[in-house]
Amino acid sequence: MTSDSSFRNRDAIQAMPVVAMALVVMLLGVLLWLLHRNELEEERMSLIKDILWVEQNVHFHLTSDAEKLQQIAVELARDGIGDHDFRVKARALIVNSPEFERVTVRGPEGTLLVSSPPVEAAATTDDPGRWSGAFTLAKAIGRVAYGPPYVLAGRGMVFEAHVPMFAAGRFIGTVAGVFSLDLLITHQVPWWFAGKYNLEIVDGNGTVLAAKSTLPLSDPGPSHQVRFEPPGHGLMLVATVYRSETNLARNILAAAILGLALLALWSLWAVRAHIRRRLAAELALRAEHGFRKAMEDSLTVGMRARDMEGRITYVNPAFCRMVGWSEAELVGAAPPMPYWVPEDLEHTYNMHRAVLRGDAPPNGFEIVFRRKGGERFHALIYEAPLIGADGQHSGWMASVIDVTERKHVEEQARLQQEKMQRTARLTTMGEMASTLAHELNQPLSAIASYNTGCLNKLNSGTFNAEELRAALGKLGVQAQRAGQIIRRIHDFVRKSEPNVAPFSMNEVVTDTIGFLAAEARKRAVRIAVEVCPANPVVTADRILIEQVILNLARNAIEAMGHTPRLERMLVAEVAQTDDEVQVRIADHGGGVASEVADKLFTPFFTTKDEGMGMGLNICRSIMEFHQGRLWFEPNPDGGSVFLFTLPRRRTA
Ligand code: ADP
Repeated sequence: MTSDSSFRNRDAIQAMPVVAMALVVMLLGVLLWLLHRNELEEERMSLIKDILWVEQNVHFHLTSDAEKLQQIAVELARDGIGDHDFRVKARALIVNSPEFERVTVRGPEGTLLVSSPPVEAAATTDDPGRWSGAFTLAKAIGRVAYGPPYVLAGRGMVFEAHVPMFAAGRFIGTVAGVFSLDLLITHQVPWWFAGKYNLEIVDGNGTVLAAKSTLPLSDPGPSHQVRFEPPGHGLMLVATVYRSETNLARNILAAAILGLALLALWSLWAVRAHIRRRLAAELALRAEHGFRKAMEDSLTVGMRARDMEGRITYVNPAFCRMVGWSEAELVGAAPPMPYWVPEDLEHTYNMHRAVLRGDAPPNGFEIVFRRKGGERFHALIYEAPLIGADGQHSGWMASVIDVTERKHVEEQARLQQEKMQRTARLTTMGEMASTLAHELNQPLSAIASYNTGCLNKLNSGTFNAEELRAALGKLGVQAQRAGQIIRRIHDFVRKSEPNVAPFSMNEVVTDTIGFLAAEARKRAVRIAVEVCPANPVVTADRILIEQVILNLARNAIEAMGHTPRLERMLVAEVAQTDDEVQVRIADHGGGVASEVADKLFTPFFTTKDEGMGMGLNICRSIMEFHQGRLWFEPNPDGGSVFLFTLPRRRTA
């Protein structure tokens, strides 16, 4: 899969939760809307149902009231319109049906005959517009007829219902009930209806004639109206729903859902931004990794990382090529490592432990490793602490260089040079010896013959003193000649005059020991130079003193050939007394055996196969030439210490 398509997939996956969340919000919105609509519908249905019920109820009451009026009308027609009788009946009716404002009886012409309660003087305006319509209609149809609403002074809106009276088939007037609209709805509309709805009676123009409400109608809901018949005349019953608090709760709920959805969307967006950042970091990391891998693969130096316990945590391809084991075989391996040399296991372990302790030589160290095939090779190792991202020291990283080839070449060169030096020395020695022999031959053989001649004379007994004196004189001349020859050779050997000048002993010891660093490393000898803080100065031939130090130090290194590797230590130390400067070269070699101790400084004494045995002898001569001393002592830590002193140059 290409990275392009994988990124597209990732984008799609990231977009999915956002889309899902948006869908959830949308569906929730639809659900809320449906619920709301349903609720409105239900509200509307129950409004219609309820108002119809109220209308029915009022209708039923008015019908039953009309029947009661009818009853009175029948009784009046039958028994005559007796004033007292009528009032009793009318009061009973008003008490039982509180919506009755009053009950009146009119004659065949419409004249008001009687009223209960009686009509007061102030309200006696008997406006025919209020009743004549209903009166006429009742007379005409012979049934109850209702009049239009009008204002009855002090009593509010009322309407009348006229019931015709017939006596022996003749119309004799009407019994009319005056109904108060207010009282009608006050008594006939139940409390639960008034709790839910605002009920009004309005006329054809929309004017409110009467109302029953328990709450102020600040936020009207849906309303429904039905015709109020009887009494008709365009009157309507209008019910309006009070807005309930459930709306508030629902609004809060909807707002909460919306808020939560927005929060979820925001957090999704934040997560997405975070993922994008991570992806960018991952990409950068991958590029970095690729770069590092290319770099590692191109390295010819072996790299090996170990944790604090010494277990291998990483090797690069160059290291694997060097030792021949694969990365899988090496990573996780604990000491002893497969590439350690069995015969030098102890030394390798010691080095390993020194590295883990942090005591690895800062300039690197050499060690012998083996390849998988068994072949040995010299490795030069530099160790450095491995510091993790958290700043914690987590192990050690080593760079490993195969120096076998280089060492081989160096060794060859050294052997070659040594051979040449030896040859040169031997040639010089041989030449010197043959010259000496040749030159000395003549005077010596002359001496021998004079000697023989003298002896012969003495043995013959016939000699005179003169002869002998002459012979002995000549012998003496020959002996002097031999002495001259030897002196000449001596002069030749010491051709140049020593070049004496003041110098710092610290400096000379440090420089000279420095010459031997390579050789010491090769022989795994560590070197320590301890200079004297007073920095003493001597006056001597610097080159000759360097020769002495070189000789003593080289002897010390050679003496440690059989010392265990870790103990191979050379210490060169400069010290001073009142009038002398002292240099000590201490080793941990085998020391000087007592049987050879007094021969050490004699010329040509050596215990080495390729030694000349001249070194210490010459050193001692050089010291004596400078009024110094050279001697040796056993080293208290094992081995021996060679010391020399030179007179200290005093500053004026
Ligand atoms: P060469 O080094 O050629 O043998 P030297 O005169 O320098 O000649 O040394 C003479 C001998 O003294 C050596 O062969 C060795 O036996 C002994 N010798 C010199 N230095 C030491 C030393 N540091 N430890 C033990 N023996 C030593």
